[in-house]
Amino acid sequence: MIINHGVRGSTPNPSQNFLFFGGNTPCVEIKTQKYQLIFDCGSGFSKVNFSNDLETILFISHFHHDHIQGLPFNNYDTNLNKKITLTSAHSDKNNTYKKLSTYYSNPYFPVNFIDILDKFKFLDFDQVVNNFEDLNINSIDLNHPGNCSGYSITSDKKKFCYLLDNEYEEEQEQKLIDFCNLSDTVIWDGMFLDHELLEKKGWGHSSIEQGVTLANKIEVKNFLISHHAPTREDKEIKSLEKILFNKKVKFASENEVIEF
Ligand SMILES: [Zn+2]
Ligand SMILES: [Zn+2]
Repeated sequence: MIINHGVRGSTPNPSQNFLFFGGNTPCVEIKTQKYQLIFDCGSGFSKVNFSNDLETILFISHFHHDHIQGLPFNNYDTNLNKKITLTSAHSDKNNTYKKLSTYYSNPYFPVNFIDILDKFKFLDFDQVVNNFEDLNINSIDLNHPGNCSGYSITSDKKKFCYLLDNEYEEEQEQKLIDFCNLSDTVIWDGMFLDHELLEKKGWGHSSIEQGVTLANKIEVKNFLISHHAPTREDKEIKSLEKILFNKKVKFASENEVIEF
């Protein structure tokens, strides 16, 4: 099961005209029989319920604020008697710890959050992925200021790809096709429209149209365009659906549940 807890890019927007698709920043949860895998902890992370019965691993794509800002705001059930593994293909465990500790300490945050929360176990990405018995987890370097990591999860039945915060460029197309071909679900960064990209070159995001083009070049069942611009109202997103000429492409919406 895949749950999309946040689909908004850059900053949360809980205004009334944004609630159909959702105002929380990125967080995607996958539950399998053994694992609870979480991708990014934007503001949507507050809705994740941790389970003592599953092993939980949080994968961070990169450390821009919209992908980590929800970390302190989960209620972290006090009955939780396990550690949450936190990892990133983007940086080793020491640097990951350092970056989060800096962000969540004075003068940016009122308490040294990472130090008071002993629920996390920081591990290197390679260490984490080698431990899975029944899942194959890979990462891909994305084109983003300061870099970003995308992820794929493959079980014996399903494949899921998480590709947020990527500025599409022609040279990476084959790499992207190889990475996400034969997927059941792909989550793609469609923050901009082609005409908006003219002014937003170098901001590290792709267009909705580029997502549709990529979706047409791969075999995929659901291609979900996410990381919606924080100013893009529901009515505009709905009106853009007519350019999505392929039934397998649609806009991601918060709280949607997808089979894995
Ligand atoms: Zn982002
Ligand atoms: Zn970013």
